[in-house]
Amino acid sequence: MSEFWDEKNETMPREEREAVQLKDLQDTLKWVYERVPFYKNAFDEMGLKPEECQSLSDLSKFPTTIKNDLRDNYPFGLCGVPMEEVVRIHASSGTTGKPVTGPYTAQDLDDWAETMARSLWAAGIRQNDICQNAYGYGLFTGGLGFHQGALGIGCTVVPTSAGLTERQLTLMEDFGTTAFFSTPTYALTVAERARRMGMDIREWPLKIGVFGAEPWSRQMREEIENRMGIVAHEAYGLTEMGGPGVSFTCPEQRLHISEDHFYPEVIDPDTGELLPEGQQGELIFTALKRRAMPLIRFRTRDISSLKHEECACGRTLATMERITGRFDDMLIISGVNVFPSQVESVIMEFPEMETHYLLRVKQKGYLSALEVEAEAREDVYSQGQKAIEELSARISERIHQVIGITSPVTIVPMNTIARSEGKAVRVIDEREKIQ
Ligand code: ADP
Ligand code: ZN
Repeated sequence: MSEFWDEKNETMPREEREAVQLKDLQDTLKWVYERVPFYKNAFDEMGLKPEECQSLSDLSKFPTTIKNDLRDNYPFGLCGVPMEEVVRIHASSGTTGKPVTGPYTAQDLDDWAETMARSLWAAGIRQNDICQNAYGYGLFTGGLGFHQGALGIGCTVVPTSAGLTERQLTLMEDFGTTAFFSTPTYALTVAERARRMGMDIREWPLKIGVFGAEPWSRQMREEIENRMGIVAHEAYGLTEMGGPGVSFTCPEQRLHISEDHFYPEVIDPDTGELLPEGQQGELIFTALKRRAMPLIRFRTRDISSLKHEECACGRTLATMERITGRFDDMLIISGVNVFPSQVESVIMEFPEMETHYLLRVKQKGYLSALEVEAEAREDVYSQGQKAIEELSARISERIHQVIGITSPVTIVPMNTIARSEGKAVRVIDEREKIQ
């Protein structure tokens, strides 16, 4: 059996790949120029015609699309096909505001299933796997995205959706689930509940997890692997590009982009300048094959960098660095830029700590201050108040060393921080809104 789901497209030599990408890009630019007034106006304003894209690097002359453009054109203003060709509509979970619509043609749905099958295959999932899909089914792209990908491979799919954690565990044990899909946060919720129910998932047939939809630290990944006795893989995507399936981890744990479908660039978020290979900035994507809503240079607000080199796994698809955070999640504390994932990494360095934490941003005069609440492992609580206070002080000191901010850490009782079935809420902003 091949290591690749789609050997031709996953291992295509760069020169050949770029020729195909250019052709698809030219077709897409023409498609939106002729069908989507928003793009016609945007190109005209810059005096650009689709034909002026003669090389992949010419794309950087074209305008970017931002989330607000989707909101302004809600619900179907950016649609590139008549409504009768739209066969399904998803919408984003709205982590950072109003929902965003995602329409698909029948071909868009087939392509999505294909990129998801490719992603799951790279994680080692095969036809004989029993896949329990705990991503939310519904408008959120996670549920149906993973569902269709697993069906494409011919796996047995158990569509549990998110929630009802005890039932997840009962079914996992009874059905002999071998692969589990969810957000990383929910995977930890499931693992924790299993421990409380006296179940040891590590003894079960479960062997692969594919997680995504929210930023998670490397330490969090290891924690999930240890607690579930699995290899944890990752899928990345966004509603604006049709959902998960934009990138996926290979056996080398590199995050490959399905570059035949999504053309990636990284820009400086302030100037919009294209950044060189390997440099961190804002990730943007142009959909190369989608037709119901092909977005041009969509600004994800996600922080990453790109590498175009062949991977030891044999794939020639470009890789992106794991998302360390979104620009929208960035906190500025005493002039220092802080991402929740950085605090997470520090907390997880401490074996005494659990994976549940919450950051509270407070107003201190004109400045912002950060307070961390985190749960410790059960046995820590029996060591007395003094030990807990010492531990808090050590974590606080480490946050100061690594991130450069002073932040008190409060160790709170077990189960005080709300558990999530989907994307976790890590930050509560208690600052007064300046009008
Ligand atoms: P919303 O923007 O409302 O959360 P989506 O469900 O479309 O809507 O979420 C897409 C976003 O989720 C991405 O832009 C990214 O910030 C995050 N995301 C998705 N997959 C991953 C992943 N594997 N790692 C980190 N972040 C991810
Ligand atoms: Zn690889």
